[in-house]
Amino acid sequence: MSSLDIQRIREDFPILKREVNGKPLVYLDNGATTQKPKVVIDAIMNYYTDMNSNVHRGVHYLSQIATDAFEVTRRKVQDFIHAKHDYEVIITKGTTESINLLAHCYGRAFIQEGDEVIISAMEHHSNIVPWQMVCEEKGAKLQVIPMKETGELDMDAYKKLLGPKTKIVSVNYVSNALGTINPVKEIIALAHAQGVPVMLDAAQAVQHIKIDVQALDVDFLAFSGHKMYGPTGVGVLYGKEEWLNKMPPYQGGGDMIKDVTFEKTTYNELPFKFEAGTPNIEAGIALNAAIDYIEELGLDNIKAYEDELLAYATEKLSTVEGIKFIGTAKEKSSVISFVVEGTHPYDIGVILDKLGIAVRTGHHCAQPIMEQFQIPGTVRASLAVYNTKEEIDALVAGVKRATAMLV
Ligand code: PMP
Repeated sequence: MSSLDIQRIREDFPILKREVNGKPLVYLDNGATTQKPKVVIDAIMNYYTDMNSNVHRGVHYLSQIATDAFEVTRRKVQDFIHAKHDYEVIITKGTTESINLLAHCYGRAFIQEGDEVIISAMEHHSNIVPWQMVCEEKGAKLQVIPMKETGELDMDAYKKLLGPKTKIVSVNYVSNALGTINPVKEIIALAHAQGVPVMLDAAQAVQHIKIDVQALDVDFLAFSGHKMYGPTGVGVLYGKEEWLNKMPPYQGGGDMIKDVTFEKTTYNELPFKFEAGTPNIEAGIALNAAIDYIEELGLDNIKAYEDELLAYATEKLSTVEGIKFIGTAKEKSSVISFVVEGTHPYDIGVILDKLGIAVRTGHHCAQPIMEQFQIPGTVRASLAVYNTKEEIDALVAGVKRATAMLV
């Protein structure tokens, strides 16, 4: 039994009271984005009603309180992931921007012709394409850790790929399409044994698993606010100070400079060197409220409850005739992906929507995974702390109704 009062938690999320197509909303698309608790919505409102102004610039009162509130979030993130310094936390638009920033800046500083970058077969497109772009530009090679039928990485193959040409390893912590939790500690240790840094795409991890960047000894970590009960338009790139200092800036503009003349510009110190222009201030401030919210519930409690729901969903969905789960790793987190024989995932998704049930269908921005399993896509239910066993029952009944109509 969970130590969390889920009915009380549901009260914190205003949207969960609404109906969709005349039915109570069953929101199971949390991997795409989570719903927002009232404290996060209030933080956004409060910024605009009480302190709207630009950050890091003005001497005036409003600018100072907005800057303070924005910088509180940076320190909150530092504590949340246990970074050594607050200036190792770069505020971005989201995971996609974090990875693009890293690929671009790390690539410019450290990747040359003939070098190799290692990713895995289960990456989101945002952890494939930026590296592909860098490799193309530099004449480097993208190496891919293969994946087994279970949706687990082939660690023996990984060990063989690592070598003197490897310049960085960039893999996801938890797969958005399969739910696999990767053995990141081992991945990092093996890379470090060869002097290679590692970046973790934690977009699907931070909201489920307690992360300690120092204990992991990870070099870079990326995640998005909107998948962890926070607003869209804000995310984080954590980087170890020694790496960030060796990398050139990303975009040029205001805030990232120390001095500008037409002859030469000197750059600001960390983290501002990587934060050109006005950030998404209200989102940055509201991310603080989202982290507070998660910490009040406790990540261990959240994980235990979601694991219980995942086991329940897996057991109940197994009774659907013709179902095949895609991704059956031993270590999984809150994502259940499946196909049903004789049906297309899209058709199931449309019928579920008519019943008020929101799932995601398709390739989940991970086309190579679908190619490996030779399927057009999956139906994906992804869980959050406010989901209930009754909602899982509604999903199972909905899938059975859809398959009865489609097969
Ligand atoms: N990586 C993973 C594993 C994801 O699930 C996502 C979002 N689906 C991203 C990266 C990209 O995140 P964002 O769209 O917030 O930049």
